[in-house]
Amino acid sequence: MLLVVHMPTFFPSSTDLLLGLAVLVILFRLIYKFRNYVVNRPLLYPGLGQEDLHAKFSVFLDKYSFYNSLDDVGKQKMLERCVRFASQKRFLGSKDFVVTGEMVVAISATAVRLTFGLDRYYLPRYHTIRIFPTAFYSPFHKRELKGGASTKGVLFFSWADFVQGDSIENDRINLGLHEMAHALRLELKYGKGADRRVADYFDSWFGVAFDEFQKVRKGEGNYLRDYAGTNPEEFFAVCVEHFYEDADSFSKELPDVYAHLCLLLNLDPLNKENNFAYDRDLVIARSTDLKYELPEKIQRNYRYDSWHWSFNMIIAGFFVFLPIILYCISTVAIEFSDVLLPIAIMIFLVVSFRSFWFNKGIQMYRHLFMFALVGVSFPGLATMMVVNMNFHQSKFLDFYAIAEHHSRAVGDKIRVEYTFTEASGALPNRFRQVDLTIDQSDFVDSQQMFMETSYGLMGWKNIHSRTLVLNGYDMLKVDKPEL
Ligand SMILES: [Zn+2]
Repeated sequence: MLLVVHMPTFFPSSTDLLLGLAVLVILFRLIYKFRNYVVNRPLLYPGLGQEDLHAKFSVFLDKYSFYNSLDDVGKQKMLERCVRFASQKRFLGSKDFVVTGEMVVAISATAVRLTFGLDRYYLPRYHTIRIFPTAFYSPFHKRELKGGASTKGVLFFSWADFVQGDSIENDRINLGLHEMAHALRLELKYGKGADRRVADYFDSWFGVAFDEFQKVRKGEGNYLRDYAGTNPEEFFAVCVEHFYEDADSFSKELPDVYAHLCLLLNLDPLNKENNFAYDRDLVIARSTDLKYELPEKIQRNYRYDSWHWSFNMIIAGFFVFLPIILYCISTVAIEFSDVLLPIAIMIFLVVSFRSFWFNKGIQMYRHLFMFALVGVSFPGLATMMVVNMNFHQSKFLDFYAIAEHHSRAVGDKIRVEYTFTEASGALPNRFRQVDLTIDQSDFVDSQQMFMETSYGLMGWKNIHSRTLVLNGYDMLKVDKPEL
């Protein structure tokens, strides 16, 4: 009796791999879209359509001088941003204080005014806005407050003070802008939705403003109010109030702080003719004696990032490319020692360009090493193995004779472990060992194995299939795999 045990190894085609990749990409796109939908879904005014909302908002917005200074395109932009901002926040009145449409629009407009030049304008960390009729007692601060921005995503306002700040447009005091400035900073420090520009340039701006901060701190400042010296956060918030309410004097008194604040917020309150757009040439022409040059391009700053793109590569290395490598190991006949050299070369190449990666935000050695090993060499090795499997020379047969076998009964079956000697071509042990559980009657004590193999583009051997011939003679009768 002849028994042939055919053991195909895994051998995906390039089409399978591409299809698998496409499915993964589509899956990630869907998850990303769903996440965006959850994050951006409107919470407020469920019964009102976009047009109704726009109509209602524009009635209130018409009272704002910032809005009225914009052209039609700018007005449309501000209107849409306000509606979007308002739709995403919960506005709660304290106790029986009723929140009106005017409050919603005024608070939204203040936030949008601050972030008008930015791409990320709606402070996603801030989900709730609590409005009090007047100054309120804060058990946390143990004193009366007019407003506040919590690290947990809640903004507080005393409505009376908010209105007062808004109604006098040039007294350099604006509670709404002050708290929104805090929120913008806290978004940067604790949130995930900070604007790229603010994350990249805030530290540089504070560097430019530092001398002035020190002066105000010592009580030697002669423009910003003393409160700005409390700490860097209050300094920024007070600067924002001056920026919007007293831009002309600000740009003359503290030209560097003003100019770089324009760059930071991508907005110039003095450029009324052109939707307050930041125009580098215009700012430079206005302040000819800038001590700190306005950069043309903002350098990347990863300090506030909770995530770095290289982490994605490290995760992909572990969860996508390492499984691909483990999968390919059952087909590509390489030993562990064969992959050490390619991995070492890839790590060496990555690490030797350290200053390049340093500029890309990989600034610690252990991060760089993980990135080189898992994020670069795993994908590299997986690619090499897949290429080797899919681009190969014509297949040939290798024959192997049995070296030893061990057998033991498992129920009414018999389990046999075979080890084959190599007859032609060296092979890692894992391909020369076969574990089988077969019927007692099928067991014959003489065996041979042949493998269908090929050499791939990387010079490694592929094992396409292994066929075990248990009776060991009359090879002509064996069902050969197709060549
Ligand atoms: Zn403050």
